[in-house]
Formats: sequence, C-alpha cells, structure tokens
Amino acid sequence: MKWIVGACTHETNTFSTVKTDLDAFRAQTYVSGNDLLSTYRGTGTVVGGFIEALGESDDEIVASVAGEATPSGLVTRDAYDAISNQILATVGANPDADGILLALHGAMAAEGIDDVEGDLLRRVREVAGMHVPIVAVLDLHANVSREMVEAATALVGYRKYPHTDMRERGIEAARLIRRVARGDVKPVPGLTKPAMIPVCGTCHTQGGLYKELWEEALRTERPECILTTSLFAGFPYADVPFMGFAVLVYADDDGTTARVEANRLTDQLWERRHEFTYIPTSVPDAVSAALAVRGSPVVIADIADNPGGGAASDSVEILRELIRREVRSAAVATIHDPDVVHQAETAGLGGRLTVTLGAKTDALHGAPIQLDVSVRSLFDGKFEYKGPMNRGAWGNLGPSAVLEANGIQIIVNSAQVQPWDPEVFRAAGIEPLDIDILVLKSAVHFRAAFEPISAAVILADGPGLTSLELTRFAYKHIRRPIFPLDEL
Ligand SMILES: [Zn+2]
Repeated sequence: MKWIVGACTHETNTFSTVKTDLDAFRAQTYVSGNDLLSTYRGTGTVVGGFIEALGESDDEIVASVAGEATPSGLVTRDAYDAISNQILATVGANPDADGILLALHGAMAAEGIDDVEGDLLRRVREVAGMHVPIVAVLDLHANVSREMVEAATALVGYRKYPHTDMRERGIEAARLIRRVARGDVKPVPGLTKPAMIPVCGTCHTQGGLYKELWEEALRTERPECILTTSLFAGFPYADVPFMGFAVLVYADDDGTTARVEANRLTDQLWERRHEFTYIPTSVPDAVSAALAVRGSPVVIADIADNPGGGAASDSVEILRELIRREVRSAAVATIHDPDVVHQAETAGLGGRLTVTLGAKTDALHGAPIQLDVSVRSLFDGKFEYKGPMNRGAWGNLGPSAVLEANGIQIIVNSAQVQPWDPEVFRAAGIEPLDIDILVLKSAVHFRAAFEPISAAVILADGPGLTSLELTRFAYKHIRRPIFPLDEL
C-alpha cells in the first residue's frame, strides 16, 4: 500500500506580537522527502510513529513536507502557503495513494485564517477526493473545530500531558488508517464542545481530574465499537471562536455510540469543572517556598513565560528575586536575548561585562535587569532530547551563552525553546543535579523529566503571555459565557 506522510505544526498564541515566518520553521524543522524520513525515523515523535508503524509491512511512504516551529504569534501567509501548498502538491501528484497521514497541532492560526487545520484538511480533502482516508494526529491543546472533524476521516489526540505519547499516537493513527483503507472499519465521530477552557497547568495527566477522565475514557469495558477517543484541553491563548475543550469519540459505523460516549465523558467533566480552578503563587512566595525545601534540586516553573505556549521567554522576574534573596546556587533555563548572547560572544569566554538582560520582546514580560556577569561558556545551542519527550530528536537553542551573576548561572539563548529536558542544562555545561534551584520556562512538560530528579516542584506566576490567570487577556472572539472566565 502507499501512504502520504506530512506535518504542519504550530501552536499560535494570538496575543503574541511576534509573527511566525518561514525562517521560524527553518530554525526548528522544515524538511521534505528523504530528509523528512531521516529526520524523524526512530524518534519519539508523531511522524516517527507513522514511519515506524508503516514500516511494519513493506508499504511505500511518500514523504511530503514537515514544518514545525516553536509557538509564537500568527503564522505568516507566506509560511503557511509554502507548507500547505507542498502538502497539496504531494497529494495531487499521488492520486493512487491509499491514505494520508498528517501530524498537525490543532491550534495553529495564520494571517487571515483562524482555523489553519480546518483549512488545510478541507483543501487536502478537495484534492484527494472523498474516497481517500485522511487521519491526522493533533496535540492535546488543539482547539478542535467542526470543519476539522468534517474534513478528516479521523482525528487522534495526544493522551498525555506532558506529551510523552506522541510516537504512540502516530502508531495508532497509522494502524487506524490502514484498517480504514482496507474497509475493515468506518470511523463515525461524536464531538462535544463544552463551554470551558481549563488553564494548562491544571490539566496535566500526572494526577488529578484530567488523569481520572482519561482512565474513564479508556476503561476496558467501554463499547467495543469505539475506535479512538480524544479529550482535547484546548489552547487558551488563541482568541478564536472555537477555542476551548473538545471531546471527540469515533465509533465504527455507529454515530449513536460515538455521541453517547462523548456526552457521557462531557457530563463527568462538566460536573467536576471547578477542580480545574487555579490559585496563583507570586514570584516572591514561590522563591520563599523553594528556599524552605530540604533537598535539591528544587524546580521553580516560570509558567507565565513559557515559550512552549508562545510567551517571550525573556522575563527575568524570578532571576531578580533570586538575586535579591542572595541565592548562591541556581540555574535559569533560558532567557531569550540574542543581543546579550552577541555581547557575551564579543567579551569572550571568561570575559566580564555589564548587561541589560531580558524583557525586550514586548511590555508584557516584566522589566529588564542590569547585571554584572562573567561568561562561563559559549555554545551552539544544539542538544539531543534524552528524556521521555521527543527522545532521540534534536533541539536547538540557537547560539547561546552561560552567564554567571552572584553564583547564579543563566542560559541566555537566541532561539526560543521550551526547556523540558535536562539536556538543555548539560549542553550548556551545567549538571542540573548539582544545583539547588532550577528555574524553567515551562508550564507542564518539564514534569516528565524533571519531577523524577527533583526534591520539589513549585509554580511561580510572574508576568507573561502564558499566565494561568485568564482574566489578564483581552478576549474578543471566543464564545461567552465560558468557564472559568464566566460564572457557570
Ligand atoms: Zn500541547
């Protein structure tokens, strides 16, 4: 059999002023053909899962294009057109394909297009025709639209947050599309869109309500005809009408069972929605809590400035508090400030300089800090993921420097990447286990690799575009009323 494989992923924070152009994709991943296969083969990614599962038989894989960029503001039309047109060209050139597998996000917005995945799936459907199955894997943070569900044969969402099951979902999608193409099953969807937007920090699957909902969704005694179930938490930083939670169940040629199951899961979620309520911790309180912990390292997660959700990754408010409290053993990953990286390169290894660090992207990430620092290391920013997420794939912080101020080591980088893997520290020459306090620009993903090696995890609510206090955001387009912004 013959399968088309492609990827187009971006989580778009529509409140960010930083446009995402084709260079932003090139900085992370923008590959096609055999380069796509060699980039993803054997990795813990969705496309890695596609390749692995399709390789179980002697099937032909037609690799189209894979474009992935770090979350930020609206994707430019040029970038979206370049990637989508290449996918459409591959589909058009292979009318004999048995199916199309796509790794998408589900919360991508481009200039003039709120619902990129809906647009892309509809156009792929138009070129491929109604008879060719299209199965896409979406992030757990997808804002699922009815257009996406109508255009795709099936959508499969991540079940884990941190997203440690990307490869497994790729394998699941590939096995499902094979069954569809053979005529063994016919997925029929049941979709609900309850009026709620759980903030990211409350819907991880390490414990709590969201984990229990998943256990219920995957219970062994569920109807046998259910092919796949997804509980999409949604991405709260996208001001689009279909933003929010979605429950999506596919049953084999049985729309009633799909709808009944989706409604049942939705009722359970709705009854317990107040468990998603979040109480913030100020930066000074978070640092006090970290200092009170016996044992190390202690992780302070700078959840409001998470580049994995489109924040600037350049708030220095936790760093400022650590310096004010005269903390002597801490490391920060990472402050995005290409200007300061350049100054450090000019000063050279061991050089001393005064820098004005951070808060340069916009006025929403606090104020800069002036520091006397020494340059501890300079490196190219490349690192290999070795933890539970993206294992085997490569990350890129861009040209980077480690600056030391009062015993605190600060990784300053030039390409925004969410530091969820301890290898970010090790690439910088820092052994995280030897440090008392680790500051991470991450909301949840860090938990997969850092919780097992940390004495404690503390969330800090500083300034930033991924704050869990949703009342900070001036929504104009989402539906109202919606929980927790409105009393429901
Ligand atoms: Zn996600």
